[in-house]
Amino acid sequence: MAGTLFRISNGTVYDPLHGIDGKVQDLWIENGKIVAAPTDPAVRADKHLDVTGMVVMPGGIDMHCHIAGPKVNVARKMRPEEKRLARPVVRTATTHSGTMGSVPSTYATGYKYAGMGYTTAFDAAIPPLAARHVHEEFADTPCIDKGFYVLVGNNHYIMRALQEKEPERLKAFLGWLLSSAKGYAPKMVNPGGVEVWKQQQGGNVSSLDSLVEHFDVTPRQIILGLAQAADELKLPHKLHIHANNLGLPGNWTTTLDTMRALEGYGGHMTHIQFHSYGGGGGDENTFNSKAVELAQYVNEHKNITVDVGQVMFGETTSMTGDGPLGYYLSNIYKSKWFSSETEMEAGCGIAPIEYKNKSLIHSLQWAIGLEWYLLVEDPWRVVMSTDHPNGGSFMAYPQIVRLLMDRTWRNDVLAGVNPAVRERSSLGDLDREYSLYEICIITRSGPAKILGLKNKGHLGPGADADITIYTPHENKEIMFELPRYVIKSGEVIVELGEIREPVQGKTLHVAPDYDKGVEADIAEWFERYYSIRFRNYPVTDDYLHEHETIACE
Ligand SMILES: [Zn+2]
Repeated sequence: MAGTLFRISNGTVYDPLHGIDGKVQDLWIENGKIVAAPTDPAVRADKHLDVTGMVVMPGGIDMHCHIAGPKVNVARKMRPEEKRLARPVVRTATTHSGTMGSVPSTYATGYKYAGMGYTTAFDAAIPPLAARHVHEEFADTPCIDKGFYVLVGNNHYIMRALQEKEPERLKAFLGWLLSSAKGYAPKMVNPGGVEVWKQQQGGNVSSLDSLVEHFDVTPRQIILGLAQAADELKLPHKLHIHANNLGLPGNWTTTLDTMRALEGYGGHMTHIQFHSYGGGGGDENTFNSKAVELAQYVNEHKNITVDVGQVMFGETTSMTGDGPLGYYLSNIYKSKWFSSETEMEAGCGIAPIEYKNKSLIHSLQWAIGLEWYLLVEDPWRVVMSTDHPNGGSFMAYPQIVRLLMDRTWRNDVLAGVNPAVRERSSLGDLDREYSLYEICIITRSGPAKILGLKNKGHLGPGADADITIYTPHENKEIMFELPRYVIKSGEVIVELGEIREPVQGKTLHVAPDYDKGVEADIAEWFERYYSIRFRNYPVTDDYLHEHETIACE
């Protein structure tokens, strides 16, 4: 039976997957999906929205942010001073109240993403042991579709399988783990380094060939082993990689080694800005950008994709699965600090941080992020992110759009930051300006492709009807911060930032095929080491709210 037919007419449409670059045309929607225009001209829509003169794009997709899970919740509690000062989200007849600051509450997160034209977001670092709670938080995060990546880079079972040279067991375990957590992709954070941090005071690995004690494996083996397993499981999004030595001067060689260590397997290098630093020896004055060198490698190697992790000036909260990094930051900024570990799975560190435009380091971080957008030649392989809230809030995305589209304004901001940035990065020499078409790629079509989401990031028949409609404005920050309409699964959910219809949104997850023979071994291991019983660990289908399994093919 046919559903309600909804026509959006006369918009200026951007749909890069189909090569559509600002063409005036209609879109037709039925049952939450885009459908082909009816061939019979006599067919009338049940609902009609005239968007003459407005810009139409697929809904935004944030492929790397922190919006749920244990460390996000600790950070919410840890920053009462921020919550006190930020304007609260007030309750209405149809929406919940919420709090803001750098780590908004669940409902506020959903409303603010949607208000800004984003309709999908992925939390990038969930210890699988905490998955059940994350699904509950997602149920309280309305308006957007969401999923999460499962932390695997310091998992004891995985390191043991590598030590015992059993790639088949590693692969089966990874398949079981993703299926059990109802996660979307495997995420490595400082592979091996978090485990060393747990073992020794102030511990970390220093290079890809450092040994992780008790397991006798190296970061290099973890990276390649997991990349291979992810590839063989045919996951829609391959390995999501937070490399070793994040934030440290001189870390760019580790980043280059990491990309090489993939040996041609697909890998997504996340918040690459934080991994692109020259200098070293603990001397702040040697700090400089290596974005040119690294971007050249990315340009030449199609197996690599990146998101930026842009730093924006102001106060925020750093939160990471990288335990030693949290400790490092809290030492630098003398701030409050939280560290914890999740049994055999993961760790985490949290510390407040303020990025200042007079600081050499922070100014360079800001510049290096922008260099990345401007130096990667293929916009399909670079994605907009602030690593929310690490480099800044997701609410800063419209400002980044303006920095990329308006060279004059970019140079004005550059003139106000620490002057050494001009010698230590190439930003001042880059005159590229993004087009709307390219912005559409790096904020929706590209991430959809990198995530293997066939029904998102485009406006062709079969796509989820997640659509953002903007009023054009010369100032692109103004244009992008307040869309005229946001449509989710065919419903108009937002008008000018006001939530009209707070739909639920669904959870996206994978269910890869794996060798079930591995379960007996996992069960035995579980009963020996875990704090919960094996049978209580997997999140079952009936536990989920609205959800969709994305195929591994
Ligand atoms: Zn992150």
